[in-house]
Amino acid sequence: MQKFIFIICDGLADRPIPELGYKTPLEAAHTPNLDKIAQDGISGMVHTVDIGVRPGSDTAHLSLFGYDPYSSYTGRGPFECSGIGMEIKKGDICFRANAAYVDKNGLVVDRRAGRLRSTKSLIEEVGKMEIDGAEILLQESLGHRIGMIVRGDGLSPNVTDQDPHANGRKVLTVMPKDNTQQAKRTADILNAFTKLCQERLSGIQVTTGTPLSANIILFRGAGALPKNLIPFYDKYHLKACMVSGAPLYKGVAKIVGMDVAEFEPEDGVTGLPDTNIEAKIKKAQGLLANSGTSQTPSYDCVFVHIKAADSLAEDGNFQGKKKFIEKIDAAMKLLAQSSEFLVLITADHTTSCQLRQHTADPVPVVIKGEGVRTDDINAFSERECMKGRLGHLRGQNLMPILIDLMGLAELYGA
Ligand code: ZN
Repeated sequence: MQKFIFIICDGLADRPIPELGYKTPLEAAHTPNLDKIAQDGISGMVHTVDIGVRPGSDTAHLSLFGYDPYSSYTGRGPFECSGIGMEIKKGDICFRANAAYVDKNGLVVDRRAGRLRSTKSLIEEVGKMEIDGAEILLQESLGHRIGMIVRGDGLSPNVTDQDPHANGRKVLTVMPKDNTQQAKRTADILNAFTKLCQERLSGIQVTTGTPLSANIILFRGAGALPKNLIPFYDKYHLKACMVSGAPLYKGVAKIVGMDVAEFEPEDGVTGLPDTNIEAKIKKAQGLLANSGTSQTPSYDCVFVHIKAADSLAEDGNFQGKKKFIEKIDAAMKLLAQSSEFLVLITADHTTSCQLRQHTADPVPVVIKGEGVRTDDINAFSERECMKGRLGHLRGQNLMPILIDLMGLAELYGA
């Protein structure tokens, strides 16, 4: 059986940029290894969630893993919380949260509280909280970020955000999104939390490196565990592992039942532009090559998530994105020169440097490996892959294609 490495370069695709001669960063970048993979493989375009849909990273990853986000997704919160190691129970409502600073009129002065390095002492100050029989659980994430869970009976993820999403705006009152008692109760608990949290943090000095202190926790992205989600192993009978430096992607992988690879700090896997991509590819190759022991199981497939092209595009930094794509390319040498595993390379969505946001434009995909048909495409880019023989696919089509290339697809009919 062939095993596969599935590479997801976050926000890799883009739109034409005037300063790059109307090329995208991927078209403008020097990418001999990605081009070699395109030459040896078959290319196409992927609409990760669906045609014309602007995907979030979470819904796009669910789709690439072969799940229908429309039937399983309620919000981003549970993926963030799971990604930082919080245990999520059925009925929990999960949020992404930030330590922030608001003025006395409730206007947000700094959504990141001066990019607070750690929220540990702030979470200790807020302490245990129980409101109307529901428990509020908080856990430190990267920098100013916090994972937040509301645990209790009769709760609903159908509530609006309290985070106004920009500085200079007023902290929002949480509203129920439907007429159920559960949504109303959840909104009431969350509004009481905001009040209590501000009371407990007033007058507290949390070091932020700036004159500001964090005096509120902002939260958004309410979600519950995905409904009716068949675990990855039960769905495909494949042992899968995720290689990623960022919590959200680890969270999506954990929730669908994949293992998540561990790294040591000296491996330099950061989820930032300085990340060590080669270490991730070598880790993926190692996880597949391993013959398997009780401590180190052998995997059938590994997903590798590479973050920074997306963050650079959201900062409008097209030169940085182009440079980072060249860094991705350098690491792809390990795969371009090997025929040991099936390789699939794609993105979770387009992130436009000009718009600084995700767009619905399809993303390029290439598959290479034993038995894979080839086409006449010799470069990996939006423009070239559009002409590839895979044509236009939805994200959910990729797993069945790989399963067939592995020789594991069941015959449909007789
Ligand atoms: Zn993404």
